[in-house]
Amino acid sequence: MNNPKSKNLTGDVVDAQGLTKTFGKEIAVDSLTLQVPRGAIFGFIGPSGCGKTTTVRMLTGVHKPTSGQVSVLGKNPVQFSKSDREKIGYLIQNFVLYPELTVWENLNFVASFYGVGLLRGRRLNRLLDFVELKEDKRKLAGALSGGMKRRLSLAATLVHNPELLFLDEPTAGIDPLLRRKFWDYFKELQAQGQTLFVTTQYVGEAAYCDFVGVMYEGKLLMVETPEGLRRKAYGGDVVVIKTADWIKSESRRNLELLPFVRGRIRFIGDQQIEVVVDEANTAIPELVQACQGEGIVIKTIEQISPPFDDVFVRLIERENAHV
Ligand code: ATP
Repeated sequence: MNNPKSKNLTGDVVDAQGLTKTFGKEIAVDSLTLQVPRGAIFGFIGPSGCGKTTTVRMLTGVHKPTSGQVSVLGKNPVQFSKSDREKIGYLIQNFVLYPELTVWENLNFVASFYGVGLLRGRRLNRLLDFVELKEDKRKLAGALSGGMKRRLSLAATLVHNPELLFLDEPTAGIDPLLRRKFWDYFKELQAQGQTLFVTTQYVGEAAYCDFVGVMYEGKLLMVETPEGLRRKAYGGDVVVIKTADWIKSESRRNLELLPFVRGRIRFIGDQQIEVVVDEANTAIPELVQACQGEGIVIKTIEQISPPFDDVFVRLIERENAHV
């Protein structure tokens, strides 16, 4: 698991304050405030239509915000100069390369567009190696599979070695193995010092990020570390206890009275309970003792990391409960 504090994160490369974008009567993005520290992988997660692309477009200067302020690499994106733009890579959702050119010709074209000069061939080969398309460089782009097109698009986004990357749903519609591989690429780019802003509908991808912004119906619900998201969704750490026998309701109620136990204890299967606690490390020994006092024989007791899909569902449910 990532620990953002262990990374050398210096300063914010993105700073958005109260960003809003409306289309007619529709509010696509509503008063969004967020910061992205240099060197981080920032995941921007939410269902289709929640405003992710619109946000990225405001951060890259494609859309002028209806209201609010934004600074990216210290500048207002709608006033970016050519040299500002060269510091940024933007992978959009659609494939926009030339289908009738080969993989190599496409990359070479993008490289000349950005004025990549000396040693261009070596750089392009390295990039094709990176996205594992070196063997396919003479194929027409139009003949590539969906996943290969995504990888070629990623290589094209990286041609000019940008320091900040906006990747809009780079893993959409590709198989889980390749998605995993993409995240390996992103980690490598981060290790080289790049900052990544990655949008996704795949909630499980939160685990790969240093920080996660959760979007829902145009609103940024929260920005948290992946672990912070889990804690927020459940109200604490989740401990699962498997027992030798059925647990009496009275025993369960007694365990719920322990000061570090949060809320109700749930039965989650045969002789299995889920307990939300303040801190799993300190709670587990005390739970063991309390169970002994109740005559409960523990088979296993462990802290679990609930899957992010469950985390996301809980967060949305909580949000709706507050409306
Ligand atoms: P997806 O994951 O499906 O791409 P998203 O989270 O990126 O979705 P947006 O594309 O930002 O969401 O769209 C947010 C809302 O704004 C949607 O209701 C969409 O229809 C609307 N919208 C986006 N762009 C425009 C536009 N140019 N004109 C009118 N409405 C728009």
